[in-house]
Formats: sequence, structure tokens, C-alpha cells
Amino acid sequence: MVDAIHIIGGGMAGVEAAWACARAGVPAVIHEMRPKVGTFAHRTGDLAEMVCSNSFRSDDHEQNAVGLLHWEMRAAGSITMEMAARHRLPAGGALAVDRDAFSAAVTAAVRGHPLVSVVEEEMTALPDDGSWIVATGPLTSGALAKSIRQATGAEHLAFFDAIAPIVHADTIDMGVAWRQSRYDKGETEEERTAYINCPMDRAHYEAFIDALLAAEKTEFREGETAGYFDGCLPVEVMAERGRETLRFGPMKPVGLTNAHAPDVKPYAVVQLRRDNALGTLYNIVGFQTKMKHGAQAAVFRMIPGLKDAGFARLGGIHRNTFINSPTLLDDRMRLRARPWLRFAGQITGVEGYVESAAMGMLAGRLAAAEAKGATLPPVPAATAVGALLSHITGGADAKTFQPMNVNFGLFPPLPEARSGRRGRAERYKGYTDRAKADWTAWLSGTVAQAAE
Ligand SMILES: Cc1cc2nc3c(=O)[nH]c(=O)nc-3n(C[C@H](O)[C@H](O)[C@H](O)COP(=O)(O)OP(=O)(O)OC[C@H]3O[C@@H](n4cnc5c(N)ncnc54)[C@H](O)[C@@H]3O)c2cc1C
Repeated sequence: MVDAIHIIGGGMAGVEAAWACARAGVPAVIHEMRPKVGTFAHRTGDLAEMVCSNSFRSDDHEQNAVGLLHWEMRAAGSITMEMAARHRLPAGGALAVDRDAFSAAVTAAVRGHPLVSVVEEEMTALPDDGSWIVATGPLTSGALAKSIRQATGAEHLAFFDAIAPIVHADTIDMGVAWRQSRYDKGETEEERTAYINCPMDRAHYEAFIDALLAAEKTEFREGETAGYFDGCLPVEVMAERGRETLRFGPMKPVGLTNAHAPDVKPYAVVQLRRDNALGTLYNIVGFQTKMKHGAQAAVFRMIPGLKDAGFARLGGIHRNTFINSPTLLDDRMRLRARPWLRFAGQITGVEGYVESAAMGMLAGRLAAAEAKGATLPPVPAATAVGALLSHITGGADAKTFQPMNVNFGLFPPLPEARSGRRGRAERYKGYTDRAKADWTAWLSGTVAQAAE
């Protein structure tokens, strides 16, 4: 058995990983570079610092996927959820906290645990043996990023996310849109109909370009681009380069025939590509953007067929170090090529404080069980934790992999549920009930196996 599980990074994922190990009786060592080495976003030397918003988002565990994740984490003894409850601020249905009190409390609890120690140092290379969890987050230091890049291959480590909006498939109006791959390319019927196409006439296209140009945008923060940004053009920047640029780029209308009006040649076409194995999510191809969220929803709902679109996530471009997990990790979060290294948190391609913390907790449990010679049963895919894990280790398309928040589009559909907006409340309750039952069963199995 290894002496201890070593965790690189004491952020949301790192503290949960250490806590999970300690709860299982396995010593954990956190290697955290702050306060010796800082990042452009962190302000303190505390563990689990919230770098921006002070909210863990919705706490509704019946109708919201992130609220369900809170529920699952509480059931598993999460340290961030425990300290969030103690330092909660009034925020309607959201779980918002006093950020400094929260981080200070997590730091005190983790540092005070007899099985956890914290070493203040920057790790500059991936270790060659032992049992490690890499949880260095979106702002992984340059030296370690270089080492990860060497281990994974340059094409499998990104320094920026370039996220196109992702739409729930059942909110696309298929009375307007149609399924077809450009030039009907593909060996199988599935491939020939892999894309969903939304047609525009000239007037529509011109109005859409005007809206893109007028929309409010966010700017990169000072220091954020720091020699990394390698030019993934936002859709509005393409529009700024010329009104026809998009029509000759991602919106080109060639090789496509409108199934609803075969004789009318569209002036431009917006394409959506399947984003997960379940076929419940579609991303808008080439539409990465720096538009503000409110503006995005308004502009993208101008696209014919997307008038009532529900967005699983809106687009963005941020400094964000993440690996291509679907290619690199096994279903136990281990780097296939170096199985003594696990990855956890935002660096695995989940997005957000809660998702990162949840993946840290899971990595800690898996590593601790392994250290004790036990193998945990697979995490049920219908739980929020399992849906995230399945997404990053196999459900997502590796070619277009971009970070993702938890959302019901990642859950296996409920066969008996009604689709569409009308059935939504009942469907979401169905997802959360099923998840709670599966998670409770998994946790009790975990306890039995870890104790072996
Ligand atoms: C500018 C910015 C704003 C964000 N805003 C939000 C938001 O409002 N809401 C939200 O939910 N999410 C937000 N995020 C995403 C957020 O950072 C993550 O969701 C969350 O913090 C990720 O948790 P993590 O543990 O993976 O990484 P982090 O919490 O960043 O923790 C990683 C830790 O690793 C340390 N580290 C890095 N490299 C090394 C090294 N080589 N050796 C030792 N230690 C190292 C870092 O100092 C850090 O403490 C934001 C991210 C950024 C960059």
C-alpha cells in the first residue's frame, strides 16, 4: 500500500480529494503553490479559494442538476458543502457564501485533520511513481503544464476553452431545422444525418450580423492571455472582419438541401453538431463567443429553429487549462499511459466550483479505495457525479471536447418521461429521484467495499 495519496493543488477539487482520502483512513498530502506562487485570479493563500462568483449556484435538488450535485456531495460527506452551509448568505434559491469565511473554514478543517498535511510548493513536473491526483485547475502553473503536455501530447492539453453554445436537442424546432451532413457525407445513415441545420434567408442573415455586431461583449482580464492565446476566433470577431465572412465560414450554405423547402436555396445555414453519445445535446458549430450571456441567448434565439432553444451552456472563451479526458483518462480517472496519476477538477474538463469539487471527491474516493486494495463498483451514470464522469471519460466527443457544467442533458433519458417544456418539471423530478436512489445505493456499496 502507498504511504499517502499526494494531491497537486489545494483548490476545490484538491481539498475534496484530500478529505475523501482522510475520511477513508488514508493519509493525504496536498502540494499547493500559493501563497509562494500566485495566479492572475487568486488573491489569497487559502485553500478552496473562490476566484470569481461567491455562489455555488442553485441549491434545488429536485429540479436542478447542480442542486442535485450538492445533494450527492452532502450525502458523501463533502467538506465544501459542509463549510458552505456554515457560511451561507441569503441568495434566494442559490447557495451563496461569504467567500473569505468559507475558504478560511475549509483551510482550517483540512489543515487540522490529523491525516492531511499541506506542503507549500509548486510542483514543476509530473511524478514518476506513487499515487497522485493532479488537481491544479484552470490556471495550472506553466512548468507543470509543460510536463503534462509532454505526458499527454501537445494536442491533448488546451490553454483556452473556446466554447460554442450547447443546446438541448428537444428544444430545437425540427419543423424548421432538418438533419443532414454537408454533401450527405458518411458511410451510415447516422453519419449522413449527423448535423442539424437551421436555414436563413438574406434578410434574416443581415439582421443576425447586425445583432452580433451590436451585442455586448466581455473582455479578457489583464494577464489572462499571457502568451497563450493562439487565435480561436469568436463568431462576432469573424462578423467584424466582413459581413460575408460567416457566410463563407461556419455558416456557408453549400452541400445542404432544406428538407422543408427543397427548391429554396438558403442564403446561410447555422449547423449544430451532436455533442454527446446520448444525442441529447448539440453545439452550434463555430460559434465560440465572448458575447455576454444575456446577449448570447437573445442573439442565438434569432436563428430559425432555435426560437425556443434551451441552452445547456452558453458560449465563452477563457483561460482554462484542461486535458482531453475522453482520450486520456480511464473510467477511474487515471491517465491511461501512467495509471499512478489521476486527474481531478476543472483540468479534466468539467466546469465550475461544484463540478470540480465533486470530481475531486470522487478521485479521492477512488484513490483511497485503490490504496486499500479495494475496487469500487462503477459510479451509476444516472447520478450527477456519474453523469459528469461518464461525460468526461467517454460520453463526450473527444474531437470537440470542451469544458462542461453539470446539466440534465448529460443524464441517460428516462424512457417513460414526457419530452418538451410541458413535461419538464416531472422529468427533472424523475431524474433527481432516480439519481438519489442510485447514489445512495452506490455510497452504501462503497462503504462495504472500502472496509474490506
Ligand atoms: C478567472 C476565472 C473565473 C472563474 N469564475 C468562476 C465562477 O464564478 N464560478 C465557478 O463556478 N467557477 C469559476 N471559475 C472556474 C473555477 O476556477 C473552477 O470552477 C474551480 O476553482 C476549479 O477547481 P479546481 O480545484 O479544479 O481548480 P482551482 O480551484 O483553481 O485549484 C487549483 C489549485 O492548484 C494550484 N496550483 C496550480 N498549479 C500548481 C502547481 N504546479 N503546483 C502546486 N499547486 C498548483 C492553484 O494555486 C490552485 O490553488 C473561474 C475560473 C477562472 C480562471
